[in-house]
Amino acid sequence: MSAGLTSSAVVAPPPKPLLPGATLGVMGGGQLGRMFVHAAQRMGYFTAVLDPDATSPAGRVSHVHVATDYLDEKGLARLAAESAAITTEFENVPAAAMDRLARERFVAPGAAALAIAQDRAREKAHFTRCGVPCAPYAVIETEAQLAAVPDALLPGILKTARLGYDGKGQARVADRAALAVAWAGLGRAPCVLEQMLPLAFECSVVVARGADGAMVHLPVQRNLHREGILAVTEVFEDAVPASTAAQAIEATRAIAEGLGYVGVLCVEFFGLKDGRLVVNEMAPRPHNSGHWSIEGADVSQFELQVRTLAGLPLVAPRQHSPAIMLNLLGDLWFRAGSEAVTPDWASVLALPGTHLHLYGKASARPGRKMGHLTVTGASVAQVRATALRAADRLGIAPF
Ligand code: ATP
Ligand code: MG
Repeated sequence: MSAGLTSSAVVAPPPKPLLPGATLGVMGGGQLGRMFVHAAQRMGYFTAVLDPDATSPAGRVSHVHVATDYLDEKGLARLAAESAAITTEFENVPAAAMDRLARERFVAPGAAALAIAQDRAREKAHFTRCGVPCAPYAVIETEAQLAAVPDALLPGILKTARLGYDGKGQARVADRAALAVAWAGLGRAPCVLEQMLPLAFECSVVVARGADGAMVHLPVQRNLHREGILAVTEVFEDAVPASTAAQAIEATRAIAEGLGYVGVLCVEFFGLKDGRLVVNEMAPRPHNSGHWSIEGADVSQFELQVRTLAGLPLVAPRQHSPAIMLNLLGDLWFRAGSEAVTPDWASVLALPGTHLHLYGKASARPGRKMGHLTVTGASVAQVRATALRAADRLGIAPF
């Protein structure tokens, strides 16, 4: 790839909306790409997915699947040729690939926003610039920076600056000795050390911002993580204290605005025991915590992604049902220790208001996101009761 041809010349957003019948492209073929493809196809678009895996969840359902490496010139040329505009379903898509595509086609989100979201240190600097507080932290790239870490950051969580997800690339450290061991264990890669905060709850906000600056958002989502992986998302009035929710929405809008962002952005927050709200991280794409919106709102986060990419109008989504989403991790396929089992889908689908999503992944592994179950209903009490019953039938611990 020629280094001289980088982000300087990027294709501007189309002056008129790309209407159904056009082809929308997506980098990455995971479950988020798959649900984007579903939303786009429902609206009458054609889709093209680039993912090296011949059996990727999105590749399998897309009209066109370019099965090459993300940096393969022929693959990128084909994706650009097939697509009227291109988005991404994961933040770690190589910047050079997005730059390459952006020279030929409108790409959203842009490479600059992705570069910030790919790096925890740059991400935190961006939050600070936008006036949104994050956990006290220090960047650790050298032995000198390791030695200079203030005591106040311990106990803390050491996180690799790049390529972490689902709690991977992280270590909880109690003291300086543990910190030194953990940094060595992470290969002395560039890291951030965050102070361990006393969390009361976690929440997230999905916003969509158009090329014209218009912005809409989904309601605040309350998230329960287990072992660093999202387990349950609950969305209904008062799932999060109203004043905190308003603050989270304002902060998310400021973060998107500050990036000049185009597309769907999710920002994750920590609600602290003393009532404060601090930002954790952002995802430049739809997010696991927004999956409930497919059945719980009249415009889903994936339709918002289609609309922002195609330049269609953004209307404020309306949540019409309280919703709870349960993540279906690969562990459910190994319930009795190591013995392989098929989860009892029929007994879960016998419960009114359950919506099953399986991503079509060939093999289950513990911790792997295989699907999710959204429960909707007429009242919060009913949704909670059904979600707890479904969790019990699947072998998910109560929440
Ligand atoms: P994701 O899959 O969301 O990208 P990740 O690997 O990027 O996950 P984080 O969101 O940084 O991980 O952290 C995972 C979880 O660990 C958080 O949701 C929270 O439960 C806990 N955690 C992370 N940082 C802190 C902190 N500073 N204080 C307390 N708990 C934390
Ligand atoms: Mg996270």
